[in-house]
Amino acid sequence: MFEEIKVVAIDGPAGSGKSTVSKLVAEKLGFTYIDTGAMYRALTLKVMKKNISFSEEEKIIEAAREMDLKLLPSVANANSICVILDGEDVSGEIRKMEITGNVKYVAKIAKVRESMVKFQRRMIKGLGGAVMEGRDIGTVVLPDAKYKFYLDASFDERVQRRFMELRARAASATREDVADDLKQRDHTDKTRAVGPLKKAENAILVDTTDLSINEVIEKIVGMINDDQ
Ligand code: C5P
Repeated sequence: MFEEIKVVAIDGPAGSGKSTVSKLVAEKLGFTYIDTGAMYRALTLKVMKKNISFSEEEKIIEAAREMDLKLLPSVANANSICVILDGEDVSGEIRKMEITGNVKYVAKIAKVRESMVKFQRRMIKGLGGAVMEGRDIGTVVLPDAKYKFYLDASFDERVQRRFMELRARAASATREDVADDLKQRDHTDKTRAVGPLKKAENAILVDTTDLSINEVIEKIVGMINDDQ
């Protein structure tokens, strides 16, 4: 279905190194980077801003359908993307712990995922190449992607990475908060009925526990280049 466009699907749990690696792999290959987690985060923010309760599924589905979302390369930081929700730059706001904790309520709704998947498939049309990262990219969004990777790392290593990341952003979370959040997210991401986090059968597993970011990137880019 998408084989004519070069797409790299990268899935994995939080803290596996997925986002950093995906951005840099895209940069090395000259492909567009697409962060699908940012889309679920933006919808969560929209729902909260509109004071919709997380139990009001119909209203959440409506919000997903009418959401005007743009993911643009960031001018301020070449290594990042700029998320524009209904005309407003929400790049910083969607990374707050409060949003992270609430994404699960919107991400489990089947019709929300349907809208997201359609939107994500539309996004790659016309692109020379794309690196799309998320939880269900290799399994649901782009099952025909030529290159599929599943990144993982030990739980302790993932906690440490997320903790350092939040500290760098001056967030006040403790290591215990981060561990609790990751445990919760792993559980809800892996057990939801629609689009759960799981390795596609034909995805290549990359254990990043003892690898540096550069080693992971070289591994992935190397495999893609060898194949061309
Ligand atoms: O990747 P990130 O940590 O920003 O994703 C935030 C949350 O969005 C995940 O914990 C997951 O619940 C949800 N998500 C999803 N499907 C995707 C990407 C993210 O359900 N493709």
